[in-house]
Amino acid sequence: MILITNATIVTGDAAGTIHHDGAIAIEGKRIAALGPTAELAARFPKAEVIDGTGRAIFPGFANIHTHFVMTLARGVFEDLSPPHEPPFCGGLSPIPMPPLSPAEQAVMCQLGALEAIRSGTTAVLEDASQIANYAQEMVDTGLRMVLAERSWDRIGTSIGDPAEFVRDENVGRAGVDRIKKLHAKWDGAGEGRIRIGVSAWAPDMCSTELLQELRELQQSLDTICTIHLNQIWGEVAAVQAHHNMLPSEYLESIGFLHDRMIGAHCRCMAPVEEKILGKHKVNVAFNSAIAARRGLSPRVCEMEEAGCNIAMGTDNMAEDMVEVMRTGLFMERIRRQDGRNPLPEEALRWATRNGYQAMGVKDGGWLAEGNLADLIMLRTGRAHLTPFLRAVSVFVHQGQARDIDDVMVDGKWIMRDGVVLTMDEARVIREAEEISSRAWSRLFAENPEIEVPEGFRPLPAVAADGIKRGDMQPVGPKG
Ligand SMILES: [Zn+2]
Repeated sequence: MILITNATIVTGDAAGTIHHDGAIAIEGKRIAALGPTAELAARFPKAEVIDGTGRAIFPGFANIHTHFVMTLARGVFEDLSPPHEPPFCGGLSPIPMPPLSPAEQAVMCQLGALEAIRSGTTAVLEDASQIANYAQEMVDTGLRMVLAERSWDRIGTSIGDPAEFVRDENVGRAGVDRIKKLHAKWDGAGEGRIRIGVSAWAPDMCSTELLQELRELQQSLDTICTIHLNQIWGEVAAVQAHHNMLPSEYLESIGFLHDRMIGAHCRCMAPVEEKILGKHKVNVAFNSAIAARRGLSPRVCEMEEAGCNIAMGTDNMAEDMVEVMRTGLFMERIRRQDGRNPLPEEALRWATRNGYQAMGVKDGGWLAEGNLADLIMLRTGRAHLTPFLRAVSVFVHQGQARDIDDVMVDGKWIMRDGVVLTMDEARVIREAEEISSRAWSRLFAENPEIEVPEGFRPLPAVAADGIKRGDMQPVGPKG
């Protein structure tokens, strides 16, 4: 048993309970007790005691929408969003992602996991295709994860293209097979930390037949599903062109909306669609930082009032949940022209407890006796956190990822005293830099028609890197 004493403990429970000079006892995967230090120290005299003086303990963050492998596009894609008005031509960036070998994909995903852990994330939903290429590395990170393998069956274009829908059934079948295989091999791995989910790419990238098949698969696997929904205005135009309905209306019409579904983004939508999502208690991934970068904003408070479960995600190309939490609060205050709402306690709940709920983890996301021991510990004695009087407000408004020194998942430290214990951080960063440099250099060298983005560092000669061309795989479709 571990007993952390003398800490400020923000439970994140429904009542907003905070224990000052508090202690938390952890036995195996779970929280055994919470309360005053003196009381718990007397109750558990044989526990391994960690002095939490000058520390604050919070529930860990749940990032319910990301694509770890897209760290590859960091610094390249952020300024290449599609237009919000016609003409729409499809795709989230005019530059394609460079292909990577499975081993290279695994390194980029470890890089994403490192940033996630360093920013206090304990649970992640990874949405991608070919997750089998790096599933073992994801288990080894120590993070709690839903690995949502993606399927689609529209070919010849990308998300947000109102042109004719060209379907290839084989592409859809291959995606369904990948989901089944990943589930058979990895569901329940890491002593139950890893679950396999179902991902449909987007309403304009999947046929009705495929969406219905994926809905049945999700039910038969007894798991959650996710879809990019009302993400960009080109998607809305495409669904209207194909079905004469708005995206959320379309999904409702085919029975795709329910409380084990995560709609990612939900920002290019009509008020009637917000009500539809609320009626079906859909989980919404509020991906605030990427939304702000794209110049778009969902109407989060309205969706919450309508009945949606609001949770948060980073999406590409960053994994910092501290930034996401604060950006979400700022965006809603600007959008509503209201300097008092939402409150930091609401933003914290979106980023923690609601995310666990969306991921189907009923006994995690807040600190309570019997719940999973997924928590973070920050060092409070820093200039920007002093005075530490209102713990939630100070952390949400002023906190930084670097404040977080310790991360625990399932009762195990995955970061301790600022050191990530589950990966060789220096190696991952070094290799990720080399892989990215090589991949982009090769892409630009082989495709001279693609304009190199302004400020890109000079391209080195593409090195003979020993990777056979046959090994290279597309890094999933963008999204
Ligand atoms: Zn996405």
